[in-house]
Amino acid sequence: VTTVDGPGVTRVLRALHAAGSMSRSELGSTTGLNRSTVASLVNELVQAGIVEEGSGSSGTVGRPSLTVSAVPDSLAVIGWDLRVDSSTAVVEGFGGRILHRWRKEHRRGSTDPYEVAARVVTGSSQIAEELPDHVIVAGIGCAMPGVIDPGGDPPRSTIHRAPSLGWVDVPFGVILGEAMRERFGSHVPVILGNDAKLGAMAEWTRGAGRNSRAMVFISGDVGIGGGVIVEGELLTGASGYAGEIGHMRFDPDGPVCRCGARGCWETAIGINTIVRSAHLDPVTAGLVDVVRAASAGDGVAAQALAEAARAVGQGLASVVNLVNPDTVVLGGHLAELLGNYRHTIIEELRFTLSRDSTMVRLVEPELGPDSIVIGAAELAFDRALSTPARALAEAASLRSE
Ligand SMILES: [Zn+2]
Repeated sequence: VTTVDGPGVTRVLRALHAAGSMSRSELGSTTGLNRSTVASLVNELVQAGIVEEGSGSSGTVGRPSLTVSAVPDSLAVIGWDLRVDSSTAVVEGFGGRILHRWRKEHRRGSTDPYEVAARVVTGSSQIAEELPDHVIVAGIGCAMPGVIDPGGDPPRSTIHRAPSLGWVDVPFGVILGEAMRERFGSHVPVILGNDAKLGAMAEWTRGAGRNSRAMVFISGDVGIGGGVIVEGELLTGASGYAGEIGHMRFDPDGPVCRCGARGCWETAIGINTIVRSAHLDPVTAGLVDVVRAASAGDGVAAQALAEAARAVGQGLASVVNLVNPDTVVLGGHLAELLGNYRHTIIEELRFTLSRDSTMVRLVEPELGPDSIVIGAAELAFDRALSTPARALAEAASLRSE
């Protein structure tokens, strides 16, 4: 156990977590700390076993600089992506390496908050059993398909609205925190975040948005979520509702949305709508099945895909007018749609004010299906690294004794 703490330590840890490893001089220029401060902080962190030094080449001319590297299994967090029909988790180590993956499909319908919490507790316990003994977990981040108050104390967060789960004002942070404590007897903090916003953050820092000035991440699933990042700042709005582009009014005469309004964008491009339009069953079929049917000559499936692609482009035109992004990342089933119907989507972007669809880069997530779950892990890491001494004190193996 160490006493490492303070803003300087946090800056060094954040830089190393983002990069994995860097030379002492790069660490100095990234953190703005002087040479001797970096040296003494690095020494403390080496003693604590969180970082190690080696004589790697730093690539710069002159005196070879020691390479400082994060020790991935010295500190870990679990990120969860909780959806209506599946739960995915990753264990992310310090420095960004994924140490372990876990996934479970479950039938749709059971969205009781206590059942969802129990799923996370059981899963966390299974994950802990599969990890090496010495790995300690300093936090748990959960991505939820809902609006979460950004001003609330994170471990006690309440989910205001989660239409796909049917939740209104559910204090899920408290429910899950208590369930974790009951099972493991530890105080590992549980932090909730909106799934699309977390996906946006992960793509911004480790994926397709790394060189972007203004990026929109759109998560495709039963619901459609959005995360907007401009100059590194995530747009949350006054109370967390910013970026809820799935509920843009798309067709005033359209079907009623799960949010209660009529004709929201997600009623036109959500996965269930596309699968149903192709005359398939959303409980058993996904977008892949629709694409397969279409390429086998099923005209109804082909039309469902083409219509959805057009609707994606039409809604995107509004988003592009509003945000002027240089990058739009389409996740989930929208990534598959982009892969097959890019031309149709881009065609609709002619109807933006700039009239220049080449101004915006339409891409699939670089982190693949992991953007959201990695974003959830990063959320937990962000908190842990802000007060590393507390995080190390709270960290636990999460094994039931
Ligand atoms: Zn809606």
